[in-house]
Amino acid sequence: MIAYIEHFVHGNDTESKPDDDVSGLPANFDLGATGVASKDFGGMKSLKPLALIMPTTTVDVSQAVKSAARTSHLTVAARGNGHSINGQAMADKGLVLGMRAMEDHYFELLWLDGTPYVDVSGGALWEDVLKRCVLQFGLSPRSWTDYLSLTVGGTLSNAGVSGQAFRYGPQTSNVSELEVVNGKGDILVCNETQNSELFFATLGGLGQFGIITRARVMLQQAPDMVRWIRVVYSEFEDYIKDAEWLVTLGEEDGSDYVEGFVFVNSDDPCNGWSTVPMDPSNQRFDPVHVPSTSGPVLYCLEFVRHYRHTDHPSHVDMVVDRLVGELGFVEGLKFEVDVTYMEFLLRVNRAEEEARSNGTWDAPHPWLNMFVSKSCIVDFDREVFKKILKQGVGGPILVYPLLRNKWDSRHSVVVPDSNIFYIVALLRFIPPPPKGPPTELLVAQNHAIIQLCYNKGFDFKLYLPHYQSQEKWMRHYGDKWSRFVERKAIFDPLAILAPGQRIFSRIS
Ligand code: FAD
Repeated sequence: MIAYIEHFVHGNDTESKPDDDVSGLPANFDLGATGVASKDFGGMKSLKPLALIMPTTTVDVSQAVKSAARTSHLTVAARGNGHSINGQAMADKGLVLGMRAMEDHYFELLWLDGTPYVDVSGGALWEDVLKRCVLQFGLSPRSWTDYLSLTVGGTLSNAGVSGQAFRYGPQTSNVSELEVVNGKGDILVCNETQNSELFFATLGGLGQFGIITRARVMLQQAPDMVRWIRVVYSEFEDYIKDAEWLVTLGEEDGSDYVEGFVFVNSDDPCNGWSTVPMDPSNQRFDPVHVPSTSGPVLYCLEFVRHYRHTDHPSHVDMVVDRLVGELGFVEGLKFEVDVTYMEFLLRVNRAEEEARSNGTWDAPHPWLNMFVSKSCIVDFDREVFKKILKQGVGGPILVYPLLRNKWDSRHSVVVPDSNIFYIVALLRFIPPPPKGPPTELLVAQNHAIIQLCYNKGFDFKLYLPHYQSQEKWMRHYGDKWSRFVERKAIFDPLAILAPGQRIFSRIS
């Protein structure tokens, strides 16, 4: 194994320094081919690591970090499932840890004060956590992402947001304990009372403070079924009024999931009307219902009510009818299906299959995710959705409200200042050039949107942020920057971890 690394360092990589001494790595490490570690879902960036290491235990992770710390310049990137957009899980000539190699290392149900939790590996995929929890225990995590082939450590390093976040907060608000390997290679268990600063720093910390090897995730009883409803609006003000009303309701009589998206008011197959029905073989979007006064884009509000087979059938009807009755959507544009809870949570898998078959899954993904304050969302709609994006983005444009009081300000992630803010996600699925537009053009469109937000003084933050200079990171964190820097100095003083985020430079 060491011979392999030495060959790699001295034989293939002339720029590496002679002190690339990783001889502290245990001989049983599986050094995978590095190819996969130099790619990500974004498909726009490629950085070749020195080695891709497949740890199978927390001690392996610790030894890799300690080995890097003994050199003058090696960095370490934990790689979850590589679903970042801008090389965040890469390490230029550093060590990449393929965290999925330890995906089965932890899996244990425990009850604490009457509440169920599951201990899972940082490298576990959320879809496996879902299946194992539901099938083995009839229990399920409460807060999700839309797509579940993402790792626990990868989403907890960001936030982890989907339509349940209005009620339970992001995934980072639904873990009570972590096992973390910090930038010195120390293995630490942390929670709100033990090593609490590391716990808060790591959640939403972009991998800067430690590598999550285990997370304790809160569970709830898993429902059997969901009723899934979509309703369409022609006016943004009506849409946000109803979306904001839905997220204020309680568990008893409210919905269990609230999201929504913008789509183009045309028959465009990727951006238009046909993207609304959940079951296109049985449902049809009839444009005759669209008011003649409508603008270039329309809005779809999506919500769900959970139920169990043992519930009286009329109960879910009653709750849903009452909710629908309060909403001011366009008459005739309501769609409804009943699906199992697992089918609902795994719904993006169908879209993945489609994208894989038409080549847009493996094409570059110049995505943009942001949190935009309620105070400027109407202006944002006017300037961005109705103008810049009036032709769509070749994929979903999500926009739905979140409640700030469900986010823990002690965590590292930063959000806008208002009680209600919106997640806006431009999830572009575009065929690679020459069939699709040049990727640079779409990246430039993202930059133009961000610049417009600055110019107009909008209150917003990038989600899954990505910047080229530390100045911009300082602006991103605002008054939380000094806390971020202090935490870095404590937990990763040599700036070894997550170099792909490009926030700090390795200290020799
Ligand atoms: P990676 O991309 O591998 O890593 C991301 C960052 O986290 C890197 O800096 C890496 O070094 C660090 N990291 C990885 N593992 C660990 C660990 N164990 N400990 C510490 N740091 C670690 N996000 C949402 O919030 N909601 C969504 O609905 C959503 N949907 C998505 C759908 C698709 C198709 C895609 C591609 C992404 C989506 N995302 C969503 C974004 C996703 O949460 C992030 O891209 C996340 O980082 C991906 O997780 P990953 O496991 O692939 O992490």
